[in-house]
Amino acid sequence: MLKVFRAALVVTAAAWMLPLCGGKPAKYIFLLIADGTGCRMIDLHLRENPSSLFKMFKNRYKTEVIDATGIGGSAAACGTAISCGVQTKLCRMAQDVNGRPLKSLAYRLKEQDFKIGIITDSVITDATIAPFFAIASRCHEPEKVISALCRSGFDFFAAGRLSEGNSLPAEKVTESLISAGYRIVPGKKLRTMNPGERNVLLSLSRATKRQPGTPALGDITAGAAGLLSADGKGFLLVVSAGSIDYFNHRNDAASALREMQNFESVIDAALKFASRHPEETLIVITSDHESGELSITGKRATGFHLKQKYTYLEMSDRLVSLNQHKHTDERLIASALKMVHVKNVSDTEHRRLQIACRLFRAHRRLKRYGTYNPLVIEAMRLRDERNGLKYSTFGYTAKHIVTVVYGSGEEHFRSLKKNSDIPGCIAAAAGFPDLMTR
Ligand SMILES: [Zn+2]
Repeated sequence: MLKVFRAALVVTAAAWMLPLCGGKPAKYIFLLIADGTGCRMIDLHLRENPSSLFKMFKNRYKTEVIDATGIGGSAAACGTAISCGVQTKLCRMAQDVNGRPLKSLAYRLKEQDFKIGIITDSVITDATIAPFFAIASRCHEPEKVISALCRSGFDFFAAGRLSEGNSLPAEKVTESLISAGYRIVPGKKLRTMNPGERNVLLSLSRATKRQPGTPALGDITAGAAGLLSADGKGFLLVVSAGSIDYFNHRNDAASALREMQNFESVIDAALKFASRHPEETLIVITSDHESGELSITGKRATGFHLKQKYTYLEMSDRLVSLNQHKHTDERLIASALKMVHVKNVSDTEHRRLQIACRLFRAHRRLKRYGTYNPLVIEAMRLRDERNGLKYSTFGYTAKHIVTVVYGSGEEHFRSLKKNSDIPGCIAAAAGFPDLMTR
């Protein structure tokens, strides 16, 4: 049995704070996605953050993420499962295995007069959230996704950025959004938005990259819930923390944990809203898939993630800069160890670091380091060994995830087995049991 389920049986001192849920259909629906977070990541987060809000939810469901080809998770296929209720092939967005288009829960609830909000701390075309409003047959079709977003008529979007890479410049995205009637609002102006307007809030809300004065993911969630609930007709608010996945893919557990802590602010915002609308709010917290195949051997919290000041990328950039200034192997190794706070390495460990350092300096790639900086990865591995955790891959996995549910209509999730069941359960909780099959 999963450790996380055992943890669920512990009634925390704060549990009494949850309001009682009534028998009314869910009118205000929060679907919160901790991207790339499997059961072990939640266990690790609970180990390092004993006061986590995750402990307050008693309805937890072990959730399968196998796709239609039996391979396991990917952002687009899992996003499609969560948004449209169908397991599909890798890289399909809101399309079934045969390429037939699917209508998402968001569009179906919009037809029932619900307001729709979509928030991500990643790019606005991110494959986890895009299937809620766009149909595409490949993972990277930003033009198609943006044009669908413009036609969606959804009420609120927020993202860390409008584009990535060179495929579609941000200026072009801005132009399309404005001509579709959306107002682009900088993060610092969160409070200038009015109900009834269509807004796209641009804000780097990641814990590891947030600028002073800009809102955290939880602030954006609270702001969006306020706007979308103003007319009292109901909303579906989808919030995806893509940065957790980003760091798990790089096996950077410390940064992933800082982003998990940031995600707590999202849960907190949803719970505060629920305390004001106790009989009509549903909160569903899930993931799209697991990344990194994390395993945990240590039981006690060590606080290791608080000591790592830089993210994987920042650590790699610093080593690249030192390398350009022709520092010795030993200096590079010492820098890498300092950044992850590892002291007193054994001879065997030092040899591992020397090999990784030579690979890094020679720009050589080895499968065991994926496409990443071997010296940073090896230093993080030594640190992880000392703190009782281990990643086994840099990719997506088919490991189970956890779905936790609280509030109006929570009883409709009792049959939840796989991620593609989630939209049907939400629709039933909202009082539309056949909404996803119409
Ligand atoms: Zn994902």
